[in-house]
Amino acid sequence: RSGEENTVEPSKGKPPVTPDSVVNLDHGDPTMYKKFWKGIGHRATIVIPGWQTMSYFSDLSGFCWFVEPGFEREVRRLHRLVGNAVVEGYHLLVGTGSTQLFQAALYALSPAEDGKPMSVVSPAPYYSSYPSVTNYLNSGLYRWDGDANTFDGDTCIELVCSPNNPDGGIRKPTVKAKYGKTIHDFAYYWPQHTPITEAASHDIMLFTVSKCTGHAGTRLGWALVKDTEVAQKMIKFLELNTIGVSKDSQLRAAKILKAVCDGYELSPASEANRLFHFAQRKMAERWSRLRATVAASGIFSLPNELSGYCTFAKEIVAANPPFAWLRCHKDGVEDLEGFLRENKIMTRGGPKFGVDERVVRVSMLDTDEAFDVFINRVASLK
Ligand code: PMP
Repeated sequence: RSGEENTVEPSKGKPPVTPDSVVNLDHGDPTMYKKFWKGIGHRATIVIPGWQTMSYFSDLSGFCWFVEPGFEREVRRLHRLVGNAVVEGYHLLVGTGSTQLFQAALYALSPAEDGKPMSVVSPAPYYSSYPSVTNYLNSGLYRWDGDANTFDGDTCIELVCSPNNPDGGIRKPTVKAKYGKTIHDFAYYWPQHTPITEAASHDIMLFTVSKCTGHAGTRLGWALVKDTEVAQKMIKFLELNTIGVSKDSQLRAAKILKAVCDGYELSPASEANRLFHFAQRKMAERWSRLRATVAASGIFSLPNELSGYCTFAKEIVAANPPFAWLRCHKDGVEDLEGFLRENKIMTRGGPKFGVDERVVRVSMLDTDEAFDVFINRVASLK
């Protein structure tokens, strides 16, 4: 009994979905991955004794004093395994989610040369957090300037999200500003969502365990940064903002990423050990069910399926975006988010992404139970 007395009961997360309850697919909560990690069992468990990770400091001899060396090692190993980003010649920074690193990057790239707030833009439809996270402090360093398609200034930071949240599009920078800078948000540039077509090598690339392995609650992201001065300014932001990043989370993430890499490099080749294969198959099944349901409905449509040669899978694969960008063509339905809410489906409407109300974003990353209820409800709408 002594062991039990010491354990702290973890939270249960969102309440389970029942056939009559509201199904909430507004957030991209990646609960789909739980089955995989249950199967992995203790190979992804860590125990941290009370006397460990007490210091503020992780590695005073490293480039960034609050990055855990074991975390950095597993991140670099994972990118070499997947081939989605170049790591040689890049500084690796860690953040409380890639959300914190996004703000660190804005801080590092601002203000504009003339001291005025830097314009921050992204082509619509853009990730709904970009405007709010950019503007919530009303900073004098940078400000949200909207849809990159209509931006015609000289200086800006363009947020390049690829595959794009919400519509799954594959993106390259679009703005032709004289002093344009880019932040590449690669939250979804993983094999379960899109063919890996190149080892990306942009100036600032953001990743997160939230959408790579499903550990959103660990709140851990990382940035690959080419320029030393920019990386140092980002570190300064993280020092001022939170005096570094939880070592406990970094150790946990390191163990999780190690289990992912070991699943490919050490374990027998089975889906039970191979995260990207598990998630790719699950996403493909969900997309084929949703496409069939939408085709039968006659009132909805989805973006066309993309496919390409994946250097990781070594075959041509279809993309399986993390969100369905669902459009409604039914007469009289102007506000699709509201229409679906009346039918007990919570989604996020187009205006939050800078576009019209007849389109919504629906998470494809939730539990099997929630996805089944969603499909049944969509099938019943005529
Ligand atoms: N970028 C994109 C495109 C996202 O969709 C998300 C999560 N919804 C994030 C960043 C933030 O991820 P994190 O949990 O690492 O803060």
